[in-house]
Amino acid sequence: MRKYLFFLLFLSIFQACTPQTYRRYAEVKDVHPTSPVRTNSETNNSQSPVLVGFGSSTCGTWADYVPDTNYLDHFPIREIRVNIHFMNTSDSASNYYGNEAQRFAMGWLSSANNDLKDNNPSWLPSDRKMPTIPTRYKLNLTSHPDYPEHKGIYDHFDDALFYYIHRGKNRNLYDQRVFEKYGLQQDSVLNIFIMPHHPDSITSPTYNATGVGVAIGGGIKVAGFYETGQPAWAFRGILNHEIGHIFSLAHSWLNDGCPDTPKGKNPCWNRTKTAPCDTAATNNVMEYNALQNAWTPCQIGRVQMRMANEQYPYRKFLARTWCEINPKRTITIADSISWLGAKDLEGHIIIQPTGVLRINCRVSLPSKANIIIQPGGQLILGPNAKLHNACTGEWDGIIIEGQGKVAGQIIMEGKPLIEDIKHPLSDTQNQ
Ligand SMILES: [Zn+2]
Repeated sequence: MRKYLFFLLFLSIFQACTPQTYRRYAEVKDVHPTSPVRTNSETNNSQSPVLVGFGSSTCGTWADYVPDTNYLDHFPIREIRVNIHFMNTSDSASNYYGNEAQRFAMGWLSSANNDLKDNNPSWLPSDRKMPTIPTRYKLNLTSHPDYPEHKGIYDHFDDALFYYIHRGKNRNLYDQRVFEKYGLQQDSVLNIFIMPHHPDSITSPTYNATGVGVAIGGGIKVAGFYETGQPAWAFRGILNHEIGHIFSLAHSWLNDGCPDTPKGKNPCWNRTKTAPCDTAATNNVMEYNALQNAWTPCQIGRVQMRMANEQYPYRKFLARTWCEINPKRTITIADSISWLGAKDLEGHIIIQPTGVLRINCRVSLPSKANIIIQPGGQLILGPNAKLHNACTGEWDGIIIEGQGKVAGQIIMEGKPLIEDIKHPLSDTQNQ
């Protein structure tokens, strides 16, 4: 009997030292300070001050979209779906085709992706250190479901439409008939046409039949690849340059909205050992130069901002990597983090006891995703915060974890939007 009493005493001490832990969906009572939670039915109220300026689905500035190299996982890699068309004459003498075209296209994309992956140090401005930040986007060759054997690379033999003329009275670079006739999946894939310069242009002494390109009407046309005989990697800069235009980047010598790009007319095609091109050359992707392989933080931020904008027409070219949950893409917040730009996340969010996550923009969560707030962790939703699912599904909900009197907290500043949520914040007591 005494032994039994000791055991009970031990048990009660043990319990006193081990606060009860729990885990449940968030309720209105978890919101500090208690502020009204807007429901789905209220979000159509266009009079609401919270919605002002939100219709464009943008918030923040380009700086809020520059990947933070300390937290790269907070910036999921965007995938631009592309396909490639080789335009040729009926005698097949004017461009690569068949296996050779496949090899060329693959090499071209992989060398462009190499530059996108790690970026390259900017040569200009030379007087200060420009951080080299990964772009966090890549090109993804996309097959047509009806023609998988082509692997997204197509040959066309058309004596009327095969050619490209960059300059002169017959120039046709803005002609979009090849897109209309041969474009595939243009609602979701960026179509890229590799065309030869017109044979008459090549023989003209005043026409420069080198590598060129244009982004027009949601497609890309490039020329000079086959005629010059250069390897595919030599043209990777042209591809990344035109992709930059698709996502709204301007030439860096113009008013491009970027304080960190080289301004003024570039006097150098490449670096040389002698002045002025020993120091004045640029490798910026939105300049004309031999490399076109360096993005400034502002250029990356501006591209990422466009990609995150639900209203931007060419967001349709992005693979919808944010619809289905990928637990490997779970983001763990252990520090004080602020998200002021829009995001399309691919996994759960876990806010650890030391973590504070402040959201003040659109954040899409994939289906079945949770925001888990561990004891002491804080989720702060600013007045422009919007949690939703950018596909047609639902994310699961916010989970509060508690231990004794310490629980995860939600702090709302104003009336953030919480949409497409399977377990909305309820007003009931503990279930
Ligand atoms: Zn350009």
